[in-house]
Amino acid sequence: MSGAPLTLFNSLTRAIEDFRPIDPAMVRLYSCGPTVYNFAHLGNLRAYVFTDTLRRTLNWKGWATTHVINITDVGHLTSDADAGEDKMEAAAQAQSRSIWDIAAFYTQAFKADLAALNILSPSLWSVATDHVQDMIAFARVLEEKGSTYQLEGGLYFDTSTVPDYGRLAGHRGDEVVGRIADVEGKRHPADFAIWRSSAPGADRQMEWSSPWGRGAPGWHLECSVMSLKYLGAQFDIHTGGIDHREIHHCNEIAQNQAFNGTARTGANLWMHNNFLVDRGGKMSKSKGGFATLAGLIERGVHPLAYRLLCLSAHYRSELEFSTEALSAALIRLKRLVMNVGQLKAKAGPLAWLAPLDEMKATRGASLAYQRAMIEAPLGEQARALVAAFDAALSADLMTPQALPLLEDALTAKSLDSEERLRVVASFDLVLGLDLLSTERRSLALRPAEAPLLDAEVEMLLDERQTARAAKDYARSDILRDQLIAAGVEVMDGDPLRWEWRPLL
Ligand code: AMP
Ligand code: ZN
Repeated sequence: MSGAPLTLFNSLTRAIEDFRPIDPAMVRLYSCGPTVYNFAHLGNLRAYVFTDTLRRTLNWKGWATTHVINITDVGHLTSDADAGEDKMEAAAQAQSRSIWDIAAFYTQAFKADLAALNILSPSLWSVATDHVQDMIAFARVLEEKGSTYQLEGGLYFDTSTVPDYGRLAGHRGDEVVGRIADVEGKRHPADFAIWRSSAPGADRQMEWSSPWGRGAPGWHLECSVMSLKYLGAQFDIHTGGIDHREIHHCNEIAQNQAFNGTARTGANLWMHNNFLVDRGGKMSKSKGGFATLAGLIERGVHPLAYRLLCLSAHYRSELEFSTEALSAALIRLKRLVMNVGQLKAKAGPLAWLAPLDEMKATRGASLAYQRAMIEAPLGEQARALVAAFDAALSADLMTPQALPLLEDALTAKSLDSEERLRVVASFDLVLGLDLLSTERRSLALRPAEAPLLDAEVEMLLDERQTARAAKDYARSDILRDQLIAAGVEVMDGDPLRWEWRPLL
């Protein structure tokens, strides 16, 4: 592979490791997907910006990837610790809709969010309910191997049948006792249901026949089964949010080991993004916040500003959500797009841009190929910038260090406009901010609650223009303040004249 050796943090060993794919020709990657009972919240989306950054980095550095993301449309309970109701059943009851409707609707909404964030589609979406028979077959093997026992509530996994249960979480099984709901007859506190029998008389919309009676698979089972089916018994990287490190992924590993042998945990590397945290309560829906991407857009924040916000923190650090940080990210994005626009105007027509847009639209070429095309004519100084960017990403995806190199490239005195743009285009293959194709105008989203219509803004601006021409600066200032109060920023001397400020 090209450039700096890639190192990544492995939650399993709690160490940064050199990345060596099992098959050098194809890196295999599995990401735990969403539970489609509601819109994804911004925290969930951070997990997929992280996964996308990982995948783009691998591709940019020259590896091909097979990436699977699952859609959880059955089995995830309201508590990860094996308790509560199935989230999908609960949502169906609350909304008086069929589970299948709910799953289809929120799956589409999730995919639309990913597209708005410029997150590449996985090689395969695998849907849990399409794999129930595979799950039953897998569970039967575990049963034959003596790793399970049956209780009234279903088939349980005996965590004592695998060594080192809970290693990923950094503790042994017995320590998780407080977190696992008490089920009568469970042999060990950490044991978990891999098949959940329907309670007698229960009115479940989703249930299947199985050797253990009618019921539904446990949530952890789906990821073991689908990753095995599509990526093999041992693949390269498994990702998820840090909450999955405690229970879900420990349970996946236990199932994988029971099925494939102790050495086969499923993935060589287990990688986890830290949380988007909301200490100020800004994300909370009940306070009228903007927990979802749609909520953000309604307030006038472009989705790629949220992507930039995510990239500005390292994926293993908590990222605190605040309107200040979000505004700063939007301003930074606007500035980047504006600077790119200025360079484009200076450089004149760029023959290499059109084929890149086409490749992006048709997904016609790998990022490595696009990168090679973009970087081919670069001189030594430009290559040094690319090398610095590569070094930052290769150090466990240090995006906060990689981002300022964008600004360095845009202002690099030793490079001409076209070279600067080529460097930015190469970086953007990883950052996914669409810097070369976004117009600044399209970043100024009109907030849904904006008190003025565009035509009214134009009218006030004209009025202000007249006042200024008549040197009536007091009037001009009043009009400016009126616009600012309505969320419109006036930009004197700018051909765009004005932009909406997000109403945060
Ligand atoms: P779920 O739909 O609940 O299965 O979650 C989808 C993904 O989002 C999982 O990888 C979670 O670990 C992750 N996740 C959940 N909450 C947050 C958060 N606040 N910040 C970052 N990732 C999160
Ligand atoms: Zn999973």
